Parts: sequence; C-alpha cells; structure tokens
Amino acid sequence: MDYTLSEEQEQLRRLVEEFVGRDAKPYLDKHGREDFPWPLFRKLGELGLAAIPFPLAYGGGGLDYRCYALVLEELSRLGTALGSALAVHGLPQLILAKFGNEEQKQKYLPAMARAELLGAFALTEPHAGSDAQAIKTRAELRGDSYVLNGQKIWITHGGEADVYLVMAVTEKGLGAKGISAFIVEKGAPGLSFGKRERPMGLPHHTREVFFDDCVIPQANLVGNAGDGFKVAMTALDSGRITIAATSIGLAQQALDYALSYTLERTAFGKHIAEFQGIQFMLADMAAAVEAARCVMRKAAYLRDSGLPFNLEASMAKLLATDAAMKVTTDAVQIYGGYGTSEDYPVQELMREAKISQIVEGTNQIQRMVIARELLKKLRQ
Ligand SMILES: Cc1cc2nc3c(=O)[nH]c(=O)nc-3n(C[C@H](O)[C@H](O)[C@H](O)COP(=O)(O)OP(=O)(O)OC[C@H]3O[C@@H](n4cnc5c(N)ncnc54)[C@H](O)[C@@H]3O)c2cc1C
Repeated sequence: MDYTLSEEQEQLRRLVEEFVGRDAKPYLDKHGREDFPWPLFRKLGELGLAAIPFPLAYGGGGLDYRCYALVLEELSRLGTALGSALAVHGLPQLILAKFGNEEQKQKYLPAMARAELLGAFALTEPHAGSDAQAIKTRAELRGDSYVLNGQKIWITHGGEADVYLVMAVTEKGLGAKGISAFIVEKGAPGLSFGKRERPMGLPHHTREVFFDDCVIPQANLVGNAGDGFKVAMTALDSGRITIAATSIGLAQQALDYALSYTLERTAFGKHIAEFQGIQFMLADMAAAVEAARCVMRKAAYLRDSGLPFNLEASMAKLLATDAAMKVTTDAVQIYGGYGTSEDYPVQELMREAKISQIVEGTNQIQRMVIARELLKKLRQ
C-alpha cells in the first residue's frame, strides 16, 4: 500500500482545487450557502466528479475508492460542503450499481453521474435511527404497484433530490428480513416533504419525507423483496469511508486555520506559536489527522482490492470523526475568544464535527461493529 499520491490522484486533487478556486468559492461568496448549490453540483457532473467510483459503462469515472475519498477530503478541506453532498449522492448510486437491475442502472446511473439527477438515502425514522431494523414505513404490493405509507426524518437532500432510495417494511414480523429497498422519484403521488430541519454546523439540506399512499411501480423494487436491510448496510459500510474522508478534510481545514492564527496572534510580546503549550496542541492535532487519514486510506485500499473492509471502515469513521471533534475544539481554543465568534470559521467546523460523530452510524454503533468483527475473527 502506497501512501503517496499517484500522478492520477495528484491531477484529480488539482482539478478539485481549481474547481473550488474558480467556481465554488466565487459562487458561495455571492449566493451564500443557505440554498442547495445546484450550479456547483451540475458543474461537478461536467467535471466527471459526481460518480468517481462507479462503472464507466453507466457514465461513472471507473476510478477507485482512494480517488473518491481524496476528492471528498479535498472538497471538505477547501471549505465547501460539497464533499458531504457528493458522499450522500453516492449512497443511492452505490446501491443501484450493486443491486439494481439493468433497466434501473440505465435509467438512473448515467443521469446521476452527469449530476442531472440528485440522489438521497432514506432509512432513518423518528423512532428508529441506530436501530434501523425498527423502521415502520410500510410498502404493500397492490396489483403492479407498491403503496408506501410512513415517515422518514433527517433525510439529506430531502425535497431537493430527484431519486430517493427508500427502505420500507414489506413483511411485518420478520425484522431485518422483512425490509425492502425502493426507488421513489420526486413527484411520485403521495410523496411530500416537511420543512427544512436545522441541525447545527454547516447548512444541511435535510427534511422529513412523508409517504401518504405513495404509489410507485413494482419495477422500482431494488434487488429482491427482503433484501433492503442488507442493501442499506452494504451502502453504509462504504459510506463510512466517505464520511471519514470528509471529516479528515474538515479537521485539516481547522488545523490549517489554527496554524496560521498562531503566527498572527501575539501575547506576552510574542506570537502564540512560540508557546510550548500551543505547539503541543498543534502537534497532537496534526498527529490525530494523519493517523485517521492513514486508517481511512487503508479501508479504501482494502475495498479497492476486493478484500473485507468493514472493520477498517468503521475504525476510519470512528477515528476520523473523533479526530475532527478534537481538532476543531482545539482550534477554537487556539483562537481564544475570537474562536467562539460567528465572524470566524472554526466554531462552525466544531459544530459540524459533532454532526459527523452522529450520522451514518453513531460512534457507539461503530464501536459495536468493530467489537463484533474482532470477536467474529476470534470465534472462527
Ligand atoms: C445532519 C444529519 C443528516 C442525516 N442524514 C440522513 C440521511 O440522509 N438518511 C438517513 O437515513 N438518515 C440521516 N440522518 C440520521 C442519522 O443517521 C441518525 O441520526 C443516526 O443514525 C442516529 O440515530 P438517532 O438520531 O435515531 O439516534 P438513536 O439511535 O436514538 O441514538 C441515541 C443515542 O443512543 C446511542 N445508542 C443507540 N443504540 C445504542 C447501543 N446499542 N449501544 C450504545 N449506544 C447506543 C447512540 O449512539 C446515540 O448516542 C441524518 C442525521 C443528521 C443529524
């Protein structure tokens, strides 16, 4: 395993840097971050960045997960929330690429790769987050349609997205084996959205999603009936690498801000960078980011090599998001009182880091996965 960037990876990194400097920063400076940045998302499609690890045959980039993770990390490091948006867009793409039939792949993947269609992943419900088997949204087969009833919460891109990968119960009493995965298109009868939720951190585009006798064609079932839980968990295994990547980018951004600030701010007649107490904080911050990056790259490498990777993916998610929490908190500390001000960026990064410890499986759930994998190996 090579930790240096290949020529191809370096070109990809430069492409992201140029996109952020030329397109993303000016757009976000002018329009703010309140609304979903559609022109930037479309531009990612034009640049071939909206489907990096998905098959060439369906318009994807055909590149590996290390390249994908690098792009997400850079988008996050450079201060756009586009890394997280791309990572969420990637979940339905991954599901369709792995479990979809030929017709579904042809219908959705090329348009999602061109960023003409935005994707969302809808699993969580008001009473069921970590315990995803406890979802209650029902999907009943009536004739050649499925009829969905229920409610999802915290759905990133809710109301914005065109394609929703929705987990719903097709057979009660079977737990995980009674859950199936469906494609629900925006505009389906009976599909509606709640008002924008307001989680802390960067502006998130999450909404409740309601299914009120929502009718979709039977052909929108993904995989077989009863596969839905497996489909969702498979997507989240890979998703953990991507959230690790965006969190590392976030942490690196906070570290970069803190480093610069220590050479600007003076106290007791010197730059605060001269104080050993500050230097030790910077050293610990940099070490935490680098350690998390190494584990994240290992998880991506294992995935790219066709080897089991879910242990390392959970470790990467845990380490990267905990590192992001620590590093962003220390960055606020280094900025002192200014660190708490909304006029400075680091407090927002700290609040965003907290979100990252909760989404796509909380860090308690990651520890459960890690322990389960360790014990499984011992029992074999
Ligand atoms: C900004 C944001 C975006 C999101 N986007 C999406 C999305 O696009 N799609 C989607 O489906 N969901 C999304 N979510 C939901 C997210 O995945 C859930 O919030 C998360 O899985 C936790 O579920 P919960 O909130 O119900 O917490 P709970 O499951 O109620 O957990 C509460 C606490 O109990 C702990 N806990 C639970 N079970 C155990 C256990 N067995 N052992 C130890 N501790 C435990 C948890 O770690 C947590 O600390 C998003 C959430 C946020 C905040």
